[in-house]
Amino acid sequence: MIPFNKPTLVGKELQYLTEAIHQGSFCGNGPFTKRCQALLEQALGVSRILLTTSCTDALEMAALLLDVRDGDEVIVPSFTFVSTPNAFVLHGATPVFADIRRDTLNIDEAQLPRLMTSRTKAIVPVHYGGVACEMDAILEVASRHGVAVVEDNAHGPFGTYKGAPLGTIGGLGALSFHDTKNFTCGEGGALLVNDPEYAGRAEIVWEKGTNRSSFLRGEVGKYTWMDVGSSHLPSDLLAAFLYAQLEARVEIQSRRRTLWVRYQDGLAEWASEHEIALPVVPSYCEPAYHLFFLLLPTAEARRDLAAHLKKKGIQSAVHYPPLHLSAMGRRFGGADGDCPVTESVSERLLRLPFSTGMTDAEQDMVIREVNAFALRQAEVNRG
Ligand SMILES: *Cc1c(COP(=O)(O)O)cnc(C)c1O
Repeated sequence: MIPFNKPTLVGKELQYLTEAIHQGSFCGNGPFTKRCQALLEQALGVSRILLTTSCTDALEMAALLLDVRDGDEVIVPSFTFVSTPNAFVLHGATPVFADIRRDTLNIDEAQLPRLMTSRTKAIVPVHYGGVACEMDAILEVASRHGVAVVEDNAHGPFGTYKGAPLGTIGGLGALSFHDTKNFTCGEGGALLVNDPEYAGRAEIVWEKGTNRSSFLRGEVGKYTWMDVGSSHLPSDLLAAFLYAQLEARVEIQSRRRTLWVRYQDGLAEWASEHEIALPVVPSYCEPAYHLFFLLLPTAEARRDLAAHLKKKGIQSAVHYPPLHLSAMGRRFGGADGDCPVTESVSERLLRLPFSTGMTDAEQDMVIREVNAFALRQAEVNRG
């Protein structure tokens, strides 16, 4: 069986976990947390990055830092994971769903001016598959209206937009280290504090509303309750596991790039023959190679291809059902037809097995089976 996803493992995780156990202290903001944060700050060119327990958690921190409250609106793509709006809804915001572009499947920046109101607090773009949103246009609308931009960069660590690392472009950015993402420690994330305006409060919110970070740096003799906050720190054991993966970031991303290009090369001809779209990458974007998808002409074609692959022992996966049509999205007024591109893409998109540890042989089999399916369909069409 070829699984849809195998969590990344690079080999040094156990060694660092052992070191972390020998430290004798396992709580958050320990030595491995600091090493992960310093590595990420250096690699991404951000002055302050805080590890969190998940990307969801980092987005919830962002909502706290923005002082999101009842009546605020937050613009999100409908084609995303629930955490993108949920983190803000938790603090009383109303999600406003934007449709996506037909090419990159990212939030359609052309819709933003129409969706802005006096209550808009933030725009939360998601770099789908690790390919950048149109950040210049998004930042321009945001600054014109004085609203924040929080990048949900769960898919895109080390991807770039016009040379800038994804997640570092808005005022705040969020990363995920869940098992399904490029880098994992099981459950984990990070908040990128790009706008120095948030830096002071960020580490207080992170440490349960206290100035424990200052205390640990020896700046104050004892720490106390300073602001609202919560427990956003992962255990240093998780940071140790993650550190092994972050150290191997070049190898991980390069392997994923190779696999992504092999899919492109192996499927391009078949795809164009059958009017199937593959991921689109604008020339000024370097993707993070998070996933590989096929956009089939119809929902039926997707169902048939998924069934064919399953019969051959290959797992594939659909992606986000439109959030504006979910039970919760409808409670916020979402209705059929609000986001036509999302609605259409959602029923036609199929993701192929894709993970760092996938072998060439496994991928060759997937490519062979996808091509074989298409041939049979062509024969059926001719008949
Ligand atoms: C995975 C994902 C999240 C949530 O990440 P967690 O680390 O599991 O909280 C949020 N947004 C997007 C776009 C995701 O893909």
